[in-house]
Amino acid sequence: MAIGKVLGCAGFQHSAVPTLREPVRLRAQCRRRGKTVSMSVQKTSKTVQQAEKMSQEFRQSSSTPLPLLHQVADALVQEMYAGLASEGGSDQLKMLPTYVENLPSGSEKGLFYAVDLGGTNFRVLRVELGGKTGQILSQEFKEVVIPPELMVGTGKDLFDFIAGTLASFVDTEDESIKAHFVQSGKTRESGFAFSFPVRQTSVKSGIVIHWTKGFKVDDAVGKDIVKQFQDAISRSNHQIMISALVNDTVGTLAGGRFNFDEETMIGCIIGTGTNACYVERADAVHKWDEPLPKSGEMVINMEWGNFRSPYLPRTFADETVDKDSVNPGDQWFEKMISGMYLGEIVRLVLARMAKEAELFGGNVPVKLLERLTLGTPHVSKIHLDNSPDLDVVAKVLKDVFEIETTTLEERKIVHEVCDIMGERGGRLAAAGLYGILKKIGRTGKSRNGSKKKTVIAMDGGLFEHHVRYRSYMEEALQELMGSDAAYEVALRLQNDGSGIGAALLAASHSHFK
Ligand code: ADP
Ligand code: MG
Repeated sequence: MAIGKVLGCAGFQHSAVPTLREPVRLRAQCRRRGKTVSMSVQKTSKTVQQAEKMSQEFRQSSSTPLPLLHQVADALVQEMYAGLASEGGSDQLKMLPTYVENLPSGSEKGLFYAVDLGGTNFRVLRVELGGKTGQILSQEFKEVVIPPELMVGTGKDLFDFIAGTLASFVDTEDESIKAHFVQSGKTRESGFAFSFPVRQTSVKSGIVIHWTKGFKVDDAVGKDIVKQFQDAISRSNHQIMISALVNDTVGTLAGGRFNFDEETMIGCIIGTGTNACYVERADAVHKWDEPLPKSGEMVINMEWGNFRSPYLPRTFADETVDKDSVNPGDQWFEKMISGMYLGEIVRLVLARMAKEAELFGGNVPVKLLERLTLGTPHVSKIHLDNSPDLDVVAKVLKDVFEIETTTLEERKIVHEVCDIMGERGGRLAAAGLYGILKKIGRTGKSRNGSKKKTVIAMDGGLFEHHVRYRSYMEEALQELMGSDAAYEVALRLQNDGSGIGAALLAASHSHFK
């Protein structure tokens, strides 16, 4: 299959980016002089062709045509039913009831904190909600990187660090806010957005099931995460009450409801890892054995990163990433579409091309063989390079892999590999969202041409910054819905959604209401 044609299929205008089919400008002309040139010319042209062939094969094995996306979506729906039916009904999707029965209405009022522990970044926020005006009057936040040793250390060390950061952020309050808390006698309250699988036991308690995204804090597993945090806050000699434990997707959904509209039904994150939650009919949650909520609804945290299906187009690179991860065998979907893994997948493909097709010359660049050298932000930088000479690609290859000079053809291949993976990731993510929409009855054809609306609140660094990934995702979702769909679906970036949503849910579950 011709590469240009495949790119065309995906609907992308690569106008400024040269295609792989342009005449080969030889590495030898750029790099070498003298007798060796003619031999190198022969070799280089062959190796470029070989690398192109590998890249075409790779595109083929990673391809996500519409029928496959439908199969992926249907397989997801099946697992959703299984996960809702009984505990462990699906060994893939936990489908966790979140105890969130009511999403923010817009009337939430007061000053609330939030702590957002994601995968890479950790944020503390202070949010002032305006009550009936339905506005966020002010917000401040501080972002801190979690020291790597704490990601695989003890629960006490991790939570002392988090509580210490929250405490010192609280100490930066204005005098007027301090005075407000003294006069009202209220304790400060915080939401806790925690982006790892938790079995909630109430809206403010929950047991850690296991860690993902490179975290491995073994002694925290099986215990109430809020209690561990609350104990650490006490050790910091501050009084702050955690009023809501919120999965980051639920925070994003809550923020979406508050900011966009009541047709916001799904919260989805594509950052370091990936996950989604949605509003389910409470009576469809068959494993729920407590009284049905008055609202008749329950937000379900799917933990969809662990979805796997034979329809997922996995390659050797996915298998290697999985084998080398801290959780081999788990989180297949996450490992194929999210930020923690995309860079490494691209690196593995390039390393194979360097070894087998001598891409980048006879010697394989040493840095290319080192794990985790290429980050997903590099992948999107490469992918977004529209310059005729692919100068940004050249710079990334130099900065990351110390490859001093590259030919345009080599850079095109690197660009192509990033495109293949970006396209696959975006389209698979869309198939997941389509599966949820199908489960809640928001797909199907319009009878009279009129369309109803569904909003999906999105967050996460990959979705936010990688605009090509995002357009692939949007396009695939439209393809899946069909032109005569009964619903118009909008993906809306709910920036910092998890943190603000956690503050909103702390407000709606405040002890002082
Ligand atoms: P978290 O997932 O830790 O809560 P974010 O939602 O901010 O944090 O996502 C951070 C992740 O997003 C990074 O690990 C990276 O994989 C990805 N990312 C950040 N910036 C970019 C970028 N410019 N292009 C592509 N991916 C990015
Ligand atoms: Mg996050």
